[in-house]
Amino acid sequence: MKVSVNHDLCEGHGKCEASAPAVFEVRDDDLSYVLVDDVPADQVDNVEKAIRLCPRAAIAWVQES
Ligand code: SF4
Repeated sequence: MKVSVNHDLCEGHGKCEASAPAVFEVRDDDLSYVLVDDVPADQVDNVEKAIRLCPRAAIAWVQES
């Protein structure tokens, strides 16, 4: 599964990186970047937590058809 961060919403709070440091990285521009193309199965719960905790609701799963 792929996950994305909407940079129009992200404010760099870093709760995503704290929840899933293997998947998200907040860089010097105060935006969170997704480090992986496909989220490994063992990181899915961490990403779900990041989605719940993101104060800007900037993180979403990418629907693949
Ligand atoms: S928790 Fe949300 S607002 Fe904060 S850095 Fe991550 S994606 Fe951006």
